[in-house]
Amino acid sequence: MRFLLLLALFGVLWWVWTKRAAAPPPSAGREPPVEKMVACAHCGLLMPESDSLADGERRYCSEAHRRAGAA
Ligand SMILES: [Zn+2]
Repeated sequence: MRFLLLLALFGVLWWVWTKRAAAPPPSAGREPPVEKMVACAHCGLLMPESDSLADGERRYCSEAHRRAGAA
């Protein structure tokens, strides 16, 4: 009975070990994607491109500034 318990314990340890070895390394060295920053054409505020409002070639930080237009 003791032998079976030891065998089970080694089985679990082996399973954990192989699972760890197969798992991809933690995201060390992997840099988060950097988003392009754009400046508001009205006030010059810098913001990620996805947060900006586009009006042709120009980018704005808010609807109010888009309506106000370029400074
Ligand atoms: Zn603005």
